[in-house]
Amino acid sequence: MKLIRISRESGIPLIGCIAFGIIDRGTNLIEVRPTSVCNLKCPFCSTNANDERMHPYNFEVELSYLVDWVKEVVRFKGEGVEIHFDSAGETLSYRDFVKLVGICSKIKGVSFVSMQTNGVLLTEGMVDALEKVGMDRINLSINSFNPEKARLLCGRDNYDISKIVKIAEYISKSKIELMLTPVWLKGVNDDDIEEIIKFGKSLNARFGIQKYEIYKYGRKYKRAKHVNWWKFYNHLKLLGKKYGVKLELNARDVNVVRKQRIPSVFKKGDRVNVVIKSPGWLNGQMIGVAGKRCISINNCNASVGKQLRVRIVEDKNELYVAEVI
Ligand code: SF4
Repeated sequence: MKLIRISRESGIPLIGCIAFGIIDRGTNLIEVRPTSVCNLKCPFCSTNANDERMHPYNFEVELSYLVDWVKEVVRFKGEGVEIHFDSAGETLSYRDFVKLVGICSKIKGVSFVSMQTNGVLLTEGMVDALEKVGMDRINLSINSFNPEKARLLCGRDNYDISKIVKIAEYISKSKIELMLTPVWLKGVNDDDIEEIIKFGKSLNARFGIQKYEIYKYGRKYKRAKHVNWWKFYNHLKLLGKKYGVKLELNARDVNVVRKQRIPSVFKKGDRVNVVIKSPGWLNGQMIGVAGKRCISINNCNASVGKQLRVRIVEDKNELYVAEVI
């Protein structure tokens, strides 16, 4: 897979594309995505990371450029902002990650910093460094303690679950809050989820158990049975009672509240003139720029620098998808 480095000089805004930059869903939490690179290939991955046919390109954003955009968004949103580092891949694939956290945690208005990781690249030294630069919570994905199943569920033969367990234990002894975030795959890791709850309880961890969802561009894992939201929450309720822990999280449990959104630039149906700046994340897409936003244009093979007229077909949370008119 080819890597596209997004620098200040690229002229590519850091709002508008789901694969990199900043996502504001209208709360005090902003998602910051420094890279789309991932080191695993989970068979249920919602973003279909590491599938070259679907994503011929990955993205990585220049540190200082990303910081400037984060500052601008935080300034707009005001006090009490949580920065949540996540990724369409793995956050720790970003080589300057600790530095990025250190700078962002000091931005005026930022009150909490969290991250999502699969833990493979985490070391004790890195946990110490993250603690020092202001990381408040690590959301760690663990889907099974069974070595063979764990390898199957992350699509890597060299995945070592014992290393992830040790790092979870290490985080739990630091000032950083540990949240275990397994994906419940009904019929695949039901017992494992209970083992993970027991383990997390012994570490005083919190839980953010996730529901396996089938997405249009995600990987479909046929072995996992579909569960609707009612059954999912009911299952969490039962497990929570059984183990005496809170498993059904709502936004308030993690201090997420509504907060003014960054202003919307376009809406679905708008016709917009864009300048093509880069290949897009999905195969067949190109990224066009207009109005300080990235717009992913489907079925587009226009070359970089070309001007095009497009129609916006998706506009949710300032993430724009368009088609050529
Ligand atoms: S689920 Fe997460 S860790 Fe697994 S392949 Fe997808 S992005 Fe990577």
